[in-house]
Amino acid sequence: MNTQISSIIDMPATESEPVVMGIDLGGTSVKLGLLQGEQIIARTSILTNEYDQPRDAFIQARRFAEQALTSAGYQFEQLQAVGLAMAGVIDEATATLMETANLRAWHGIGFYRELQSVFGKPVAVINDANAAALGEACYGEHPADSLTFLTLGTGVGGGVIVGGRPINGEHGCGGEIGHVTIEYGSDARRCGCGKPGHLEAYAGAGGIVRSAQELLAESSQESLMREIDDLTSEKIADAAEAGDKIASQVVRQTAIYLGRAISMLAHIADPDVVLLGGAVTFGGHATSTGRGFLRSIREENARLSLQQIGTTIEINFASLGNDAGMLGAARHASQIAFR
Ligand SMILES: [Zn+2]
Repeated sequence: MNTQISSIIDMPATESEPVVMGIDLGGTSVKLGLLQGEQIIARTSILTNEYDQPRDAFIQARRFAEQALTSAGYQFEQLQAVGLAMAGVIDEATATLMETANLRAWHGIGFYRELQSVFGKPVAVINDANAAALGEACYGEHPADSLTFLTLGTGVGGGVIVGGRPINGEHGCGGEIGHVTIEYGSDARRCGCGKPGHLEAYAGAGGIVRSAQELLAESSQESLMREIDDLTSEKIADAAEAGDKIASQVVRQTAIYLGRAISMLAHIADPDVVLLGGAVTFGGHATSTGRGFLRSIREENARLSLQQIGTTIEINFASLGNDAGMLGAARHASQIAFR
């Protein structure tokens, strides 16, 4: 397979700053990037399902690195470290994938060993949500040494950065914000993990659809959503944007749950910035529904939190999109290699 260098920033590499590589291993694609300081000098992505083994994907990544470094006037020797971001629970000592919804065939493989044998460089492995948090903290529109990141999608993931470094915790569960409990009643929903009342059961894509179905069943009010068979969080966002009252109520309810979770986290980590990324942000800054969603989250956090953190913490949408994980992986590699 040919690796295309999809872009080389028109800035020649300088001798002084080291080059690091970030690899973001996703269920669909593997994003690769070479960074020098804050500058991406080359990037590309390859398809995950073209590789039976992670080793084959890493060999392809190395080929890309060699080719891109040559184009930038470098040699492969000048690559200082490689960082890998991946989904799931990772054993820190060996970087073995312990638990994940995707990439089941890759379970039980020690990724440090594989990466090191392919690249022959210092390597670092990091959970993808922590990587995205680190990427946003270092390269996003709201950089901060202390930042909490929530990724809203099918699941709710998260990363907590304190003092410029991600908190992984003693069991690999630090920053697992989706599993914070926000409902305690006997009728609290079950999370995908099996436990009751977790944020993900309310603010994940499936949870949002369920909220809509419950509100539709309780109400006799007209709603555009009654005509939709396969309701999704995107269609709920569209209905809300078209002025649908029940859909707007779903958005607000989701915001309230997120505001509760953020308030809880704010009293533990007291970050400068809290960012919301992922696909389920109801349009983000681009729609009035998205902006209203953000406003409601801020209001709920302010309502529940100590005054010092109720309004001073910057709560906003993330800015790096799909690049955050790759950038964070590269940053993590430089933290490990140059500490
Ligand atoms: Zn859970």
